[in-house]
Amino acid sequence: MGLIVQKFGGSSVANAERVMNVARIVTDTYAKGNDVVVVVSAQGDTTDDLIEKAKEINPNANKREMDMLLTAGEQISIALLSMAIEKLGYKAKSLLGWQAGFNTNSVYGSARIKKVDTKRIKLELQKKHIVVVAGFQGLNKYEDLTTLGRGGSDTSAVAIAAAMQADRCQIFTDVDGVYTADPRKVKGAVKLDEITYDEMLELATLGAQVLNNRSVEMAKKYNVVVEVLSSLERKPGTLVKETVKMEKMLVRGVTADKNVARISIIGVPNIPGIAYKIFGKLAAKNINVDIILQSVGRNDTKDITFTVAGDNAGEALEVLNTLDFLAGKTIECDNENVAKVSAVGAGMETHPGVAAKMFEALFEADINIQMISTSEIKISVLIDKKDADKAVNAVHDAFLPDSAD
Ligand code: ASP
Ligand code: MG
Repeated sequence: MGLIVQKFGGSSVANAERVMNVARIVTDTYAKGNDVVVVVSAQGDTTDDLIEKAKEINPNANKREMDMLLTAGEQISIALLSMAIEKLGYKAKSLLGWQAGFNTNSVYGSARIKKVDTKRIKLELQKKHIVVVAGFQGLNKYEDLTTLGRGGSDTSAVAIAAAMQADRCQIFTDVDGVYTADPRKVKGAVKLDEITYDEMLELATLGAQVLNNRSVEMAKKYNVVVEVLSSLERKPGTLVKETVKMEKMLVRGVTADKNVARISIIGVPNIPGIAYKIFGKLAAKNINVDIILQSVGRNDTKDITFTVAGDNAGEALEVLNTLDFLAGKTIECDNENVAKVSAVGAGMETHPGVAAKMFEALFEADINIQMISTSEIKISVLIDKKDADKAVNAVHDAFLPDSAD
């Protein structure tokens, strides 16, 4: 018995049958004697569809109006789920983000939660209601609606769990947990019982779709244990927490990110301040730079190569074109043919030789490495995109050879 926060994503509430399925999960949890707060996303592709509708009318729509539009998706879900819960004979109360106390900053489209005032939620729980909260939304100081950015409902759920000190935060989705690699691409991929916040953050940032990375940051900050599990099968999922049993697992996940562009600037002056000026300008435009490689200077010039998300390549090139000292220099951009393959594991921090083993696996698969970057718990290599799936399999097999059984 305790307080449980359960979040259901868009696919879990996509149609009437799925909404009833969610109502059964929620009411079963309540019937076991728990207080339950449910957070839901918009049904199926609703958010994408609303974005399309806006584009038909004004592709450069004001962000405030976009948020006004997009919050409607979650409003539909909370009403329908509450109706479903009542049909099963339980009391439910739906709350929009502002009614549930979500105060955010004023950045429309990617607002940050400042505070969750849980007064109303607590009141409804005292009245023995199952509380159904609209994810992804809040209210700013102008009393205007805001949204938290795509996939933001995960963050809403973790924020409620943190503010209410819930006993558990369960994120239900259409996969049954976090895998060592994409199971559609890697035969031996297995579901993990546990993963650390840091590992999950790296994997979420590398494009593993299971959890939104802001939600993981928040869970880490407030030490909320998150369970990722399937809304369609009733079985335990993956726990995301501070520390996990290390076992012999040096690597806990292998991913391929194909949304990568490699940009090279040839022959920049070999003097102080060049990297600062280039990367400072990119940062000012909020362009995240990942792997950076600078050659040793020769004959007064040096080359700088770096990667950015494929979606940001165009903007990055525009920024470079505004820099006087790059005028006339050769700038190459490959947005088509590169991929980043990464191995993530908290265990590698204390074990030497992980990088060497990864490089050996790639060598044996005859895959050329273009760039390398490492952090305490991650090794990434940039390779030819056509080799990406082969590389993930090779690295996965090298570190997780027994995972298939
Ligand atoms: N409905 C929003 C989206 O699709 C929020 C969410 O699903 O978490 O991004
Ligand atoms: Mg959604």
